[in-house]
Amino acid sequence: MKLTGEQDRQNSADVWVLAEMTGGALHPVSHELLGAARRLAADRGCRVWAVALGSDLSDAAASLIAHGADGVILVGDGRLQAFNDELECNVLERLVRKYRPEIFLGAATNRGRALIPRLASRLYAGLTADCTGLAIDPETGDLLQTRPAFGGNIMATIRSGGFRPQMATVRPKVMQALPGDRTRSGMVVRESVAPEDALHIKQILETIERRENTVNLSDARIIVAGGRAMKGPEGFALLESFAQRIGGALGASRAAVDSGWIAYPHQVGQTGQTVQADVYIACGISGQIQHLIGMQSCKTIVAIDIDDTTPMMQLADIAVKGDLFAVIPEVMKALDRAGVRRAPASTEADTEEEEQC
Ligand SMILES: Cc1cc2nc3c(=O)[nH]c(=O)nc-3n(C[C@H](O)[C@H](O)[C@H](O)COP(=O)(O)OP(=O)(O)OC[C@H]3O[C@@H](n4cnc5c(N)ncnc54)[C@H](O)[C@@H]3O)c2cc1C
Repeated sequence: MKLTGEQDRQNSADVWVLAEMTGGALHPVSHELLGAARRLAADRGCRVWAVALGSDLSDAAASLIAHGADGVILVGDGRLQAFNDELECNVLERLVRKYRPEIFLGAATNRGRALIPRLASRLYAGLTADCTGLAIDPETGDLLQTRPAFGGNIMATIRSGGFRPQMATVRPKVMQALPGDRTRSGMVVRESVAPEDALHIKQILETIERRENTVNLSDARIIVAGGRAMKGPEGFALLESFAQRIGGALGASRAAVDSGWIAYPHQVGQTGQTVQADVYIACGISGQIQHLIGMQSCKTIVAIDIDDTTPMMQLADIAVKGDLFAVIPEVMKALDRAGVRRAPASTEADTEEEEQC
């Protein structure tokens, strides 16, 4: 929506987060978006609202408020059980025109990628997809949306100053979620699907979920990743035994994937997966921006490289200067000597189960 004057600008308020529901449960990216929204709202001096669309939203509001929402708009309707981009777009367009958010954040997931550009074009608003950084301009209050551009060769900061809402999508695992705080309270507003929202749209008759045997790095707590320095598939065999030894998953740089040493689902980075592991061990990966984008939110970064001036070695919490073909076998021997038992692969789901026990 184009702003026509200062009054128009003042009528827009608040940061909105579109919560993503998958199979009746909140996708973790919704909490990550709320974490980002809270920081923006603190700088902007406004509130955070989450919007959730689905058929069963019984637990959604409490979880969204605990993770940072000041208020939640729930649209519960059986027709929203399966993802229908046309219907969700119609509902959201109506709500945005009614409440006029200043900023609208969504997830750069398959669903978000289908829905949010459609909504942005309906609203005649700008959209910056796959942002890696979001901030408020202290002078204008506009949203500064940072993302890689020109094939990842530069980081561009984009603003849509004259249009509202300012819309951005963020990939899962890029932003940090806040710890859930069940003592927080917030407002819950219930909206419904209006008759005109459901007119002349496609009907979903059946949803078939395709489960492929892909590598799910995004839930791994430990990732051991190799780059060009692995020299070939044999190098990755060494890395795989190291990863198995410490209960980690196997990642790779694009250089290694393009060389055919490891399959694409293992690739981390701008054109691969985005990860947020507890520990990321980069072995012979120089740390070009396209790789860092995919892993820089990991909690502890360990780098092994013969060159200590690389971006990855500079970024690392623990930088080991040395030949990885000497360092990794030494580490495995040291684990054996110390009697450290072989660890099973662990994921975030395991952590949640452990926490619930
Ligand atoms: C549009 C676009 C998208 C891209 N997307 C991605 C992406 O998603 N993911 C990604 O990873 N890249 C991506 N890239 C490529 C990226 O720019 C880099 O080329 C790539 O990440 C480099 O991989 P690397 O670090 O393994 O190799 P290099 O940059 O060659 O680094 C190899 C490192 O290994 C070290 N080394 C060598 N021998 C040893 C040894 N024996 N022991 C220890 N260290 C050693 C070297 O000192 C060096 O630091 C993209 C590029 C473009 C243009």
